[in-house]
Amino acid sequence: EDWKDRGAAVSTRREIDANGKTIVKTVKKGVRDFSFGRVLGEGSYSTVYLATDRQTLKEYAIKVLEKRHIIKEKKIKYVNIEKDTLNRLTEHPGIVRLYYTFQDENSLYYVLDLCNSGELLGVLKKTGTFDVECARFFGAQILDSIEYMHSRGVIHRDLKPENVLLDDSMHVKITDFGTARLLTDPRAPPTAAGAGAGAARPDDRPGRDKQQDDTRAESFVGTAEYKIVELDYGFPPGFPPAAQDLIERLLVLDPERRLTIEHIKNHEFFDGQTFGKQLWRMKAPRLR
Ligand code: ATP
Repeated sequence: EDWKDRGAAVSTRREIDANGKTIVKTVKKGVRDFSFGRVLGEGSYSTVYLATDRQTLKEYAIKVLEKRHIIKEKKIKYVNIEKDTLNRLTEHPGIVRLYYTFQDENSLYYVLDLCNSGELLGVLKKTGTFDVECARFFGAQILDSIEYMHSRGVIHRDLKPENVLLDDSMHVKITDFGTARLLTDPRAPPTAAGAGAGAARPDDRPGRDKQQDDTRAESFVGTAEYKIVELDYGFPPGFPPAAQDLIERLLVLDPERRLTIEHIKNHEFFDGQTFGKQLWRMKAPRLR
């Protein structure tokens, strides 16, 4: 029930009334306002379609979740977290934007930014490795986006290349906020913000959400990988030293000892890199 209208944006429609006067009506968007195209991808609980707004011809990605499946698998909580989080993160180009939400008898719909170039993971697999220029560009866009979400009181908790989507100009758009944690005060920025899943520590902050806190013990989120916990990794020969130094300072088990976002931006690896608005006007480097 709570889902019904919250976050649903409206569009305006001009009509002529009985006296011949033009009136502007606001209308809620619904399924019929979009024409659905091919399937862009499938998740465990959703199917994502390419869709076009019939009025403006703007293209979107529409994520469709089947209500019965969500209820059966007890995923209502995650569906709501994703919607609430996306509704809080609407002013940054590095986050997939949620434009409208609506529902019909069987399904829930999220109308999202279209990310035509797929997941960063796919691009990385195809390219094999990124050169320093590419790594710096994607790294900077991801970092800028993390800084924004932390400033709005959102901790992603499952950041990985699958959850970094790319638009048609190869700019980053972070997605998958189903396991995010929302701090109660969106304007209270986290203090010891680090990059990556689990780096920020909302648990020690005054603004944390009481309700979520109660379920903390059983709320493992993220991606469990043995080698992550063991810090089992190495560098191939010829790996750029500045990049190696940055990685070694980020992959630290004790979150208190990891670099903060400000430290990362000032690290030698990002020498000469711009952040903020200017970064999103940059042309993405060519993949080699
Ligand atoms: P799971 O729920 O199993 O973890 P998921 O989180 O990837 O999977 P979705 O968010 O529904 O599930 O996405 C399914 C697929 O659709 C993704 O793999 C991605 O390739 C594609 N996709 C998701 N969002 C977009 C988007 N905004 N633009 C383009 N493609 C998208």
